[in-house]
Amino acid sequence: MKAILPPSMLGILGGGQLGRMFAAAARTMGYRVTVLDPDPLAPAAAFADVHLCAPFDDADALTRMGQTCAAITTEFENVDAESMRHLARLTRVAPSGDCVAIAQDRLTEKRWINQAGLPTAAWLAVTAASDLAADLSPYLPGILKTARLGYDGKGQARVRTAEEARAAFADLGGQACVLEKMLALKLEVSAIVARTSQAQAAVFPIAENSHKDGILDISLVPARIAPTLADSARDMARRLADALDYVGVMAVEFFVLEDDSLVVNEIAPRPHNSGHYTLDACVTDQFQQQVRTLCGLLPGKPDLLSPVAMVNLLGDLWPQDGTPNWDVLMEAPNAHLHLYGKAEARPGRKMGHFNVLNVSADEALAQAQALYDTL
Ligand code: ATP
Ligand code: MG
Repeated sequence: MKAILPPSMLGILGGGQLGRMFAAAARTMGYRVTVLDPDPLAPAAAFADVHLCAPFDDADALTRMGQTCAAITTEFENVDAESMRHLARLTRVAPSGDCVAIAQDRLTEKRWINQAGLPTAAWLAVTAASDLAADLSPYLPGILKTARLGYDGKGQARVRTAEEARAAFADLGGQACVLEKMLALKLEVSAIVARTSQAQAAVFPIAENSHKDGILDISLVPARIAPTLADSARDMARRLADALDYVGVMAVEFFVLEDDSLVVNEIAPRPHNSGHYTLDACVTDQFQQQVRTLCGLLPGKPDLLSPVAMVNLLGDLWPQDGTPNWDVLMEAPNAHLHLYGKAEARPGRKMGHFNVLNVSADEALAQAQALYDTL
């Protein structure tokens, strides 16, 4: 495939913070960017050359995108895979609609992960109440998750007994779900892989992730796990990308169990919140990788330049009619603030993040927590 070079126009479906950081990377490299997002205040719009303010399934907007963009990618998985297949008839699209469709359904996602030879928590497809009449003991205590449209822990119910599972299934409206065994987690980590259509891949260093109320809170790199375990997580991410013949940037979330074994939780067919540390701490960041792989260029080097802690900034931190107090954070020479340009701060809404680079992950974490407390 011929490489797509600047100043070609690149398109992105979705104008949230991931689209914004994609657009910033692309424009820095000299590309032009078209964003499709129905929100006139979409964070990516400020960084785009063209903002198509239309629904994601708007035929005219999609056709215009397909005709004007040399290549198109997506920043979120809930875009209609059919829209992506439509676009693929007009221009280059990566990742493929098929890969996005797999990742947007926990059932197909888990089947693919297992088919690639990688472990998941024991799981059961629940598409009808009768599926819960079976012996559920391998999956209990467990978590019932809707197959589609879950994020940040939404659409999930923890269940201890078969009765609770049946009640939760009814509560979730009887939509297709996965019942998976609740595992005792030692840690959660993630790997982000960038892969080209020629199967050249680069995997970023493993991030150790902690969550608050089901939302990513802090990522720490290098993860505080044995180097051999980190290597096998990177290897597994790469194998999964190969199995999917994935083109673009993909994130793989893992559970580390008490016995130091790795279990795949889920994949995201896009850059990932846990990869925001790469913006300041790696030779190439995950959005540059997204641009490069989309354009048919080799992935850049993913090497870590410094240990780093990434802290998410949620809307909860914003006072009414004001902003957090940035004074101390902005004065720290090894801290980097990234704000997404969202006007309205709502609880749980991702408003920005900051990266702190220090001599070790532990020191980066301690300083990041101290800085967070000043906000
Ligand atoms: P996100 O969008 O933040 O990735 P999500 O809605 O897709 O979240 P999951 O990643 O499936 O949801 O689960 C959210 C969190 O719940 C996980 O990061 C983990 O902490 C916990 N969790 C999920 N599944 C299990 C499990 N089988 N055993 C133990 N904990 C789990
Ligand atoms: Mg998750």
